[in-house]
Formats: sequence, structure tokens, C-alpha cells
Amino acid sequence: MKILVIGGMAAGATAAQFARKTDRKAEVTIIGKEPHPIYSKCGLPYSLSGRIPTFERLVEFDEQWFRQFRIGLRLGTEATSIDTSARTVTACDLRGGKEEVVPYDTLIIATGGHPWMPPIEGAYSAPGVLKEGVHLIRTIADGKRLSGNAWRDSRAVIIGGGLIGMEFAEALSVRGVHVSIVELQHEILLASLDEDMAAAARQIIEKSRTAVHLKYSAESIQGERRSESVRISNTETGEKKEIPADIVVISTGTKANTDIAVKAGCALGVTGQIKVDSRCATSVPGIFAAGDCTEYVDLITGAPVAVGMGTVATRQGRTAGINAAGGRSELPPGILGTRVTEAFGMHLAGVGPTEVQLRKAGIQPVVGRYVGSTLPSYIPGGEEILVKVLAHPDKGRLLGAQIVGTSRVHQRINAFAVAILAGMTLEQFSKLETAYAPPIAPTLDAITLACDVALMKMRRK
Ligand SMILES: Cc1cc2nc3c(=O)[nH]c(=O)nc-3n(C[C@H](O)[C@H](O)[C@H](O)COP(=O)(O)OP(=O)(O)OC[C@H]3O[C@@H](n4cnc5c(N)ncnc54)[C@H](O)[C@@H]3O)c2cc1C
Repeated sequence: MKILVIGGMAAGATAAQFARKTDRKAEVTIIGKEPHPIYSKCGLPYSLSGRIPTFERLVEFDEQWFRQFRIGLRLGTEATSIDTSARTVTACDLRGGKEEVVPYDTLIIATGGHPWMPPIEGAYSAPGVLKEGVHLIRTIADGKRLSGNAWRDSRAVIIGGGLIGMEFAEALSVRGVHVSIVELQHEILLASLDEDMAAAARQIIEKSRTAVHLKYSAESIQGERRSESVRISNTETGEKKEIPADIVVISTGTKANTDIAVKAGCALGVTGQIKVDSRCATSVPGIFAAGDCTEYVDLITGAPVAVGMGTVATRQGRTAGINAAGGRSELPPGILGTRVTEAFGMHLAGVGPTEVQLRKAGIQPVVGRYVGSTLPSYIPGGEEILVKVLAHPDKGRLLGAQIVGTSRVHQRINAFAVAILAGMTLEQFSKLETAYAPPIAPTLDAITLACDVALMKMRRK
């Protein structure tokens, strides 16, 4: 059996690995455009800040590993077309230009995404060539190009105040760069957190001398040969500002790489990404897809959502690989979007839709907020933790949660993830017997106390 994978990162490499585990005799091959075997894109900001010493350290499994597991690896090679009736893929070696036709019995498309570029005048010096100092970041090559800038005392503008924008803002600050963040919406981080939680995070960011410009759109990048400044315009008043910028990082989202799948006849969903079922099968027989090129459903709202997280890509890769090799694997019934990041000394976490996203889906959630501490008040070292929980107004079924703190956040959000997946209610979760010892956690944890607040509100109604 010949199993072919297009794209060798989180989704593709995981798919190949699980295809190999499922069928020990199959011929498993990855065609990957990048020159590196699977590496952590999520680690790019930390290679930039120096916390991870080199970009090469991001590589998770080297070529020797793939040889050992008898997975063929064609790096620096682009799959250019799929012939679904002959079951072949045409691939082009990007270094030599040599074309080859590779046969498959089952195919996994894991082509991921690329940074979305908003229309900003002066971003390019020639068609397709970003001006010096201007950066879009998705790959090790992009990270290395950014790290080639002079650091200390230079000035950077991050366009886009999402989680990844925050991570790059922090990385550049650590390097001694003066950073400004430009965000189109009225608050940063709104894809991940509600306004009240995001505002708490922003106040901490601003204390670190990072300027945040809300409700501003980046119009143009000034400078003949290289970036000198960014001109921004207020989305309400039209007021213009010019921010000096030796470095501009554009972090405004991702666009899925779906061209090859579309040409092969794979149906796209409403988000414009490849539609897959719970087995990661596409609409074309024998073709599976996984990762950032796909869409799946939100567990809570049931609405289709674009996949855009390493966690989901890896899980989908596992399912696609097992099924492509003739095994049986099903994804969970939907995506929870459990997320966390660390930036400017804060941990920001969420699970499930935000309050705004729930309202858009027609659910008016009951909300509980609690400001607590990570430790009992009598022991030094406790840190403030802000917890928000969202539940269904009828029976109090947990739908989402967000936490902002400086430590011990991610295990608390994971507890909410378990509870949501299990269909628990506010009442059940508020009775949870959480672990307690003075140097580790308080007797009643902020996660259960936030549920108490929501429960009281629900009962009052
Ligand atoms: C800076 C950064 C930080 C992030 N942090 C987090 C985090 O903390 N947590 C989290 O869950 N997620 C995070 N993510 C998201 C996560 O990295 C992605 O969800 C994940 O990389 C998706 O994996 P993928 O395999 O689907 O796609 P990709 O990683 O995009 O890989 C797709 C691969 O396919 C290749 N390819 C495309 N077309 C072809 C073709 N025609 N032929 C051959 N090869 C092709 C591409 O070159 C690429 O190498 C982060 C992303 C970035 C950029």
C-alpha cells in the first residue's frame, strides 16, 4: 500500500507517523516544500527572543528519525497537481526543478497555511518581495530573516494584536526593541478572550512600555529601500499617526493553502478551508486532509470553524494517518479551541467560544467572574488570577472559560476543558474537590468560585 502525504509539519508528519504505526508494511512518503523536517512553528517567537538558542533546535524529528521509521522524506519538493483517477501526484524539486510523478493508494493533504497579508501600501519593494525590515512569519526561514535585523534600540511595529502578535511583541521587547502594537479592533486578543479579560491583559502589556494603538488600521509603510515608519489611521475618526518602525511584523491571521486540494476536486466549507468528516476524509475518495488547511465544527456552537492550532492539527494528523492506512480513528465531535500563551509575564488561556462568539451563535450565556489568588492569602507568593466562566442559561452547562494570570493558568483551563467535554454543569463543577496545600493551591480554587458566581446569577434569574 502506498500512502502519500503532502506537507510535512504538525499535521503531515503526525499523519505519516500514525500511518506507519497502523500499517508496518505500507510505503509511507512525505512531500514537503520546506527544507526542514517537522519543526515547531509555535516555538518561532522563542527562538527569536533567544530563549531557544537556535532556530534549528525547533526541529522535532530529524531526517535520521524518518529513516529509522521507514518514512520517505522528500524535502524542498512541491506537490503541484493531483490526478485523482490515476491516483498520482506530480511533484517538483524546488532546487533542481526536476518533476516526478508519485503514485498513491491513499493521499493525505496537510498543506497548512500562510500568513494573510492585508492591503498595506509600501510593504513590498518588488512584486512578491517584502521591503527590508517588513516581515510575515510562518517558517524558520521567515524567523531567520527577522532575526537578521539589528536589535537594540531599534523600533518595531507589530500589526495585529492576536496571540501570535503578542508573542512576537514580547520576543522583540526581550531583545531590547521598542515595540508598538497596532490593532484594528477596539481591543487586542478578541479572537481568544472577551473584552474584559483582554483589557486586563492589555493593561499589563502597557506597563511594560509597549504602546498599544486600538482601532487603528495600518495604511502604509514608509521608506524608500527599507521600512522607516508605519502610517496608521483611526477606524472611527480617520485621525492619522506615523509610528517610526525599523521593523514591521505583520501578524494578521492565516490563509489556508487549499489550491492543490481545490484542483483535485476536494470540497471547501464555509470558511474556505477543506471540509473533512470525523475521519478526516475529504469529499474525494481516497483523499484525507488534516491541519490548518481544513475546517471542522466547533463543539459548542456546531458551526464550522477554520482549524488553526497545532493541537488540533496534530490530533487530526493522527486520525488521518490511521484511516489512510486502513485503520479506524474518529476525531472528537468538535473543536474546543483550548488555548494558552505566555507574553509579558502573563499567562492567557481560554477554552470554548468567547461570550461574544456565543451571543453571535444565539446563546445568551450566564457569566461568572472571579478574581482570586493562586495560593491561600496567608502564604507569600500567591499571584492574582482572573477567571471567567460561561454557561448555558437553561441548565448551566459549561460552555467556555478564560483565565488571565501570571502563573498556574494552563492546568486550570485544562480542568475546564475536561468539564466542558464531559458536559458538566456549573453546579457539578462548583462542587469539584480541587487539590489543596498552602504552597500549591487554595482550599477553594478560583475556578470553582467563578462557577459559584455564575450559579448565583443563574438562580437569581
Ligand atoms: C508563530 C506561531 C506560533 C504558534 N503558536 C501556537 C501555539 O502556541 N499553540 C498552537 O496550538 N498553535 C500555534 N500555532 C499554530 C500552529 O503552528 C499551526 O496550527 C500548525 O503549524 C499547523 O500545522 P499544519 O501541519 O497543518 O500546517 P503547517 O505548519 O503550515 O505545515 C504545512 C506544510 O505544508 C507545506 N506545503 C504547503 N503546500 C505544499 C505543497 N503543495 N507541496 C508540498 N508541501 C506543501 C508547507 O510549506 C508547510 O511546510 C502557531 C503558529 C505560528 C506561526
